[in-house]
Amino acid sequence: MKKKLTIVLAMFTLFAFLTSTNAFAHEMYFTQSGSTITTIPLRWTPKNTSTGRLKVIINKQSLTGSWSTYYEDARTAWHSSAVPAEFTTTTTTPVPNTYMVTASQQYWDSMYPDGPFSETLGVTELYDTNSLAITSIATASASTKQLKGANIYLNPSPNSPSAFIYRFTMSHELGHVLALGHSHLPQYSPANTSTDPSIMSYDYFSLGQSYLPQNHEVNDVKKMYGY
Ligand SMILES: [Zn+2]
Repeated sequence: MKKKLTIVLAMFTLFAFLTSTNAFAHEMYFTQSGSTITTIPLRWTPKNTSTGRLKVIINKQSLTGSWSTYYEDARTAWHSSAVPAEFTTTTTTPVPNTYMVTASQQYWDSMYPDGPFSETLGVTELYDTNSLAITSIATASASTKQLKGANIYLNPSPNSPSAFIYRFTMSHELGHVLALGHSHLPQYSPANTSTDPSIMSYDYFSLGQSYLPQNHEVNDVKKMYGY
């Protein structure tokens, strides 16, 4: 269950295919039995030893078109926020722990074909310290739960391209890199679309044109990582 951002065309609501979070923080994976929610906390591990901030080093060499144009805006949104993480860019191959890629049209059409009212804009895959791809609750459970890498794939030709769509999608996927799940799921009671707009929500129109991490998201990251 890769984390996908899907826009529902011509509607002001968006639907998740598969997502997860919980009542106290935006965990990506959880299981629910009745009213009992069991979370699978996944945590990013690379840190800047001098600042103590989480260290996300992004290779964007395969980012093309408008995704490349607006990349820096999304990166800066996180890097300059109060979140305890730094997001930097590299072009060297062995160094990065995160790759951002504009997918080929053929790959995207085969993997994420448009639904009648929806399309997928971006997908984030996480990897643990054993290089296990975390793509389901089962693999999340079996993982080390310590994250060391991520791959972000982006739709090469969104149906409704705009600066906001590009910026928001990349900001949303970078939130997944830190292991944030989705806001505004039924299981996530503290946030709602109007009072707690969220870049980690599918109902992102409540943000207006903002693509900045919101206070409750920043606070969740701090709580999740013990900052
Ligand atoms: Zn998502």
